[in-house]
Amino acid sequence: MGGWWRRQRDARLLRRRAIPLSLWQTTLSLYPFIAARDDAQLQRLQALAALFLARKEFTAVGGLELSDEIAVAIAAQACLPVLELGLDAYDSFVGIVVHPDEVVARREVTDEHGIVHHFDEVLTGEAMEGGPVMLSWNDVAHAGSSAARGYNVVIHEFVHVLDMHDGIVDGMPPLPDAQARRHWRLVMQAAFERLRRSLDAGQGGFLDPYGAESIEEFFPVAAEAFFVAPQALRAEQPALYELFAGYFRQDPATLFERP
Ligand SMILES: [Zn+2]
Repeated sequence: MGGWWRRQRDARLLRRRAIPLSLWQTTLSLYPFIAARDDAQLQRLQALAALFLARKEFTAVGGLELSDEIAVAIAAQACLPVLELGLDAYDSFVGIVVHPDEVVARREVTDEHGIVHHFDEVLTGEAMEGGPVMLSWNDVAHAGSSAARGYNVVIHEFVHVLDMHDGIVDGMPPLPDAQARRHWRLVMQAAFERLRRSLDAGQGGFLDPYGAESIEEFFPVAAEAFFVAPQALRAEQPALYELFAGYFRQDPATLFERP
């Protein structure tokens, strides 16, 4: 899509469909990790979230009624990772399905003997290639308080979307060149091994143990911490923090130091 045309259209859209100030301020008060941003970033985030709302289709299911508060809360958090990357990074999907709470999904896996096992998986969110992003509103709504634990379901699922953008789910988003990809793999692998080693030693740390499942889950889990508890991530995994600061073009830990 042409850059000029899209920018014109976006400008028109923003004039018509800007997020009302009172609604935006309510959102900031509920999610302090967003409010911690500086004024210039907040202004850009508000505009980006308005475009996000115009481009994406929200559906509420399970008896949940979709409100402006729900849509703006999701849009604002979803746009944090792409604040400096642009919304095109989310072009691979349109739909966002919001459930009132966690969802139990019936899964099946085939083991090495060809035997199919069924099990239930409790999901607070899910991102599928080309498909909708599913979110539990109960978890989204509590993102303000769960930030202290580095937990954020919206950021988690949308970082999966960034990972999927090149069609390969491998814990690595599209990067400019082979050197950047090599560097990414090196730093991510070392950080991932470090989490696994500390869990094996029974120590744990700040990062959610769920990140130790696979490198594909480690990326979104660590990115959650980067955006909502950046100082904790920087203290625990400084090299990973630097990698993310370069990729997302943001340095949230510095912002959070402000009085
Ligand atoms: Zn995940």
